[in-house]
Amino acid sequence: EVILEARHVTKRFPASGGRTLVANHDINLKFQKGKTLGLVGESGCGKSTFMRFLVSLDTPSEGEILYRGRDITKLRGEELRQSRQHIQMVFQDPTSSFNPKMRIRDIVCEPLLNFGRITKKEKDAACRRLLEMVELPGDFADRYPHNMSGGQRQRVAIARALALEPEILILDEATSALDVSVQKTIIELIVKLQREKNITIGFICHDISLIQSCADQVAVMYLGNVVEVLPAKDLAKNAKHPYTKALIGSIFDISMDFSKPIESIEGEAPSPLDVPAGCPFRGRCPKATTRCAAEQPKLRTVEAGHEVACHLLDEEGKNKTGASALTG
Ligand code: SF4
Ligand code: MG
Repeated sequence: EVILEARHVTKRFPASGGRTLVANHDINLKFQKGKTLGLVGESGCGKSTFMRFLVSLDTPSEGEILYRGRDITKLRGEELRQSRQHIQMVFQDPTSSFNPKMRIRDIVCEPLLNFGRITKKEKDAACRRLLEMVELPGDFADRYPHNMSGGQRQRVAIARALALEPEILILDEATSALDVSVQKTIIELIVKLQREKNITIGFICHDISLIQSCADQVAVMYLGNVVEVLPAKDLAKNAKHPYTKALIGSIFDISMDFSKPIESIEGEAPSPLDVPAGCPFRGRCPKATTRCAAEQPKLRTVEAGHEVACHLLDEEGKNKTGASALTG
């Protein structure tokens, strides 16, 4: 069941010198009820820009965001306010979104009070219940954010985000600032809560191995474009886009030497201000051809649940008998 869908989402920002920064280009993605969609790519690829549209912190230049069939980018005023209850977000650093002068009780209960779900008298009980949900002691309610560890603060951020029982939770690098061991416990908590409450999750992360371990479906972004969408379980054995393969560290330069894996991606990502014509990845792609410079590949379905934007797919189709250009 698709409960959230992005259709043809494009975002342009005006930049200096009359130039335009294209942060998102024609993004189409579907979020399935109770599942996790992971969005992965290097910093600056436009994944946070995109996720901000889902929680109505910004609106795209073009395209629609359909929540249960309704375009939330068109909502205003009270309708927009009400709609925000259903899709909540946790950011990388909760300290920047928490008021340092507020006690945990007030931070966690603020959304409930704002939407009239509880009265002031019910705050203590509500806070205790929410802290227990994220496995924190109830007496943390009296603390201030600076009296807690990073992991504890992130649990508070999750408690606050889930206070309104949203259908969708967006996590933007929500565990990236934490130690690996703390990160693991937070992920386990999120997975447990997702199972219990059937929450749909959008998980943004630059770390593809983390995405692989906790997402159902993965969308790979490069320079504002989604270049591949596939089931997380297929990442290691069935990724087809050269960029995805580079991210998982298994790309081989077939034009040169089969024995030499390219450990990391060559070159630097071009600025989204100067996106080259043709395939956005061509400047770093070991398999680029002249066609790649002329024409941007469109995302195409290669099998159920798997879409790829790369011209090599055509070569593969033409050359069925030889070794596949994409599986090398
Ligand atoms: Fe590489 Fe060309 Fe495919 Fe782009 S379209 S990823 S440049 S082979
Ligand atoms: Mg970001």
